[in-house]
Amino acid sequence: MNILVANLGSTSLKFRLFRFDGAGGAALLAKGGYERVTDYGKAIDDCLAELKAAGHVRSPADLHGVGFKTVLGKNLTGCVPADEKTIAALDGFKEIAPAHNPPYATGIQRFREKLPGVPLVALFETAFYQWVPEAAARYAVPEAWHQAGVRRYGFHGASHKFVAERSAELLGRKDIADRVRQLYQAGPTPVSGRALRVISCHLGGSSSVTGIRDGVAIGTSMGLSPQSGLPQNNRVGDLDSAAVPFVMKTLGLSIAEVERQMTKEGGLLGLSGVSNDLRDIRAAATAGNARAQLALDVFVHSARHWIGAFLLELGGCDALVFTAGIGENNPDLRAAFCAQLEQLGIVIDPVKNDALRGAEGEISAAGSRVKVFVIPANEELVVARETLRCIAAHN
Ligand code: ADP
Repeated sequence: MNILVANLGSTSLKFRLFRFDGAGGAALLAKGGYERVTDYGKAIDDCLAELKAAGHVRSPADLHGVGFKTVLGKNLTGCVPADEKTIAALDGFKEIAPAHNPPYATGIQRFREKLPGVPLVALFETAFYQWVPEAAARYAVPEAWHQAGVRRYGFHGASHKFVAERSAELLGRKDIADRVRQLYQAGPTPVSGRALRVISCHLGGSSSVTGIRDGVAIGTSMGLSPQSGLPQNNRVGDLDSAAVPFVMKTLGLSIAEVERQMTKEGGLLGLSGVSNDLRDIRAAATAGNARAQLALDVFVHSARHWIGAFLLELGGCDALVFTAGIGENNPDLRAAFCAQLEQLGIVIDPVKNDALRGAEGEISAAGSRVKVFVIPANEELVVARETLRCIAAHN
């Protein structure tokens, strides 16, 4: 079974082709992409021609499905066929995710035209949060705002779901790993045995922390849009809503300019004044740049704030997991996230921690009550797997 995962940006199409064997094992056959795309139809043709030339897909009939990691849709979530309803849902929330929803709506439409017989599947980033308790999802806004869709949705769902499944496997809880695998088809199935409590920290170009009980999310740091929660690369993260009217009135900024600055000039870039990339910020901090050091400190403080929130909500945790570019590659930051948490059962082994970069492993000390893991993110593989499951469930 060949599953293509298409990652659509406003002017880009990136793809990965996976081949699944009968036992569910997946091999990455090809990856590539096109920048400065003005015509998705042509980019899709180019992609198919490339896969044909490489001998992977002789014709569209060799393609068993295409998966899309869509962000959020109005009144629609989960892992669903990418049909007209999905396109309408993306369109309905284009104001919340202006950089993501329009390219996906257009791109999916083009794929539908180009590959009429091939099943297309949308895995929403919000899918993992379908079962978050209402009290954790509601904002205290006027009812009309809520009716319009203003609530916490949560993002990075593919990544956190992978962590939920993989951490359960690492902890020997096959029952929970199976529960996670079937989540979007069967919903949360009954569980027996001790509760499994996991805190998943996806720390990368954008970051979020999610609390997970028995493989199902109970809450997350991101809210209405991916502009919330921890400071992001160049996006503000959490901010008192009064800041927007305040800067509009006192700095004379238009709403469009506020939006631009909040999404392009905030976050780690705004804090450090150096870069939106943690590597540059760390180099500057090491060289004595105080703003760069402050950016690191704010990031660590914010991550700990959310880890703390879910430690309380879960009543402790069995595993704390770091994933994505920052979480996988920065032992010093991992040590900072976990500093002085011995009383809460979280103790890092400095030697194991320093040695682990970009690979899976455990970094907690032998006596640590909480296991601390690094689990590399592979969101495209998650999309491919869920696409396959969705196709199987609809046939
Ligand atoms: P995205 O969210 O764009 O997919 P990533 O998950 O790749 O991004 O995370 C990007 C962040 O991870 C950047 O801030 C970058 O500095 C950091 N990062 C990536 N690789 C490394 C590395 N080898 N060492 C240190 N930091 C890294």
